[in-house]
Amino acid sequence: MSALYGTYARSELAFERGEGVRLFAQDGRRYLDFHSGIAVNALGHGDPHLVNALKAAAEKVWHTSNTFTIPEQERLGQRLVDATFADAVFFTNSGAEAVECAIKTARRYFYDKGEKDRYEIIAFTGSFHGRTLGTIAAGGNPSYLEGFGPPVEGFKHLKPGNLEAVAAAIGPRTCAILIEPVQGEGGVTAFPAEYMQGLRALCDAHGLLLVLDEVQCGYGRTGRFFAHEWSGITPDIMAVAKGIGGGFPLGACLATAEVAKSMVPGTHGSTYGGNPLASAVGNAVLDRILAPGFIAEVDRVGQLFAWHLRQLAQRFPQYVVETRGKGLLAGIKITPPVKDFVVRLRDDHQMLCIAAGDNVVRLIPPLVVTDADIEEAIGKLADAFTALDAEAAASGKAAG
Ligand SMILES: *Cc1c(COP(=O)(O)O)cnc(C)c1O
Repeated sequence: MSALYGTYARSELAFERGEGVRLFAQDGRRYLDFHSGIAVNALGHGDPHLVNALKAAAEKVWHTSNTFTIPEQERLGQRLVDATFADAVFFTNSGAEAVECAIKTARRYFYDKGEKDRYEIIAFTGSFHGRTLGTIAAGGNPSYLEGFGPPVEGFKHLKPGNLEAVAAAIGPRTCAILIEPVQGEGGVTAFPAEYMQGLRALCDAHGLLLVLDEVQCGYGRTGRFFAHEWSGITPDIMAVAKGIGGGFPLGACLATAEVAKSMVPGTHGSTYGGNPLASAVGNAVLDRILAPGFIAEVDRVGQLFAWHLRQLAQRFPQYVVETRGKGLLAGIKITPPVKDFVVRLRDDHQMLCIAAGDNVVRLIPPLVVTDADIEEAIGKLADAFTALDAEAAASGKAAG
């Protein structure tokens, strides 16, 4: 019996060592990692630049709290500001905290303008924003809310994809629209550029803030630094995490100066957020992601991956319903139960990936994945479908 909370349906598999896109289990087995600790290990495992940055930081000051100036955090914040729409950054330890900060920033902005009742946020079904009380309310998934008392008030959920429905839902209390440009957990759904542009236009027309959750789809994963760049729009507030620390717990909320100015001393805080260790690693991650050509290469490999997945869908139409996603946030909606299929890939083909909603296999390799790794993954997926075929034929024979 484990001493831990039973909140996760854990596998017994435990890893000892990692190298790039490979993980090595305690029994020596080698796995192809298209899971990346849920889109976190952006630079794969054991990246020397990250390892050295963490070691060097560990020899200095680990933690001071945000009572003092943290030079590495100042530097990371400035680099994020220089590379994005944002003018100011708040660092957190996780994605949910980054979204919490985004929600608080949006509400506080209208409060400061004297519009104290304007706190309602339009969000979307199929979204995932984290597991705190605020972010389960923002996500609106009834199974995550059940049993935890009254949900945090002020979220209205719409089915995504219909701009008229959003326009109709905007009222005097609406302060913001919150969306993941590519829904991750919900089923790897990438929204078209026109839809994102339409949401931006509605925000502009009604004086609302556009809040993007790029915790999963940001940081290079779709082949742009942030996924909203594909639609040419910018948000007012954006939550970032997962890839930002390459495996070290780190998140960030980015905002324009206009909005961030409401977050004055006393409005928000975090003991650890952006501490010296986390910020040192964050800077090392950024060195790699913003190096010339890095994101362009993610775009190229992502397109190659999408092409291979479409071929796979044509080869196994009995199992693949459709291909989804953007760049290296890819998915295939399949007909067999996805959880079983993910276990099968892991145990029979030594490939790690993760299920998403709507029976989608989510394929989220480290951003350093090569053409050969992609081909290996496609081979393993094909082998898994072929094995399903063989089993179906055998049981058909047995039944016949
Ligand atoms: C993972 C995720 C979160 C929550 O991040 P945590 O670090 O688990 O708190 C929020 N939003 C999106 C889109 C995510 O994928």
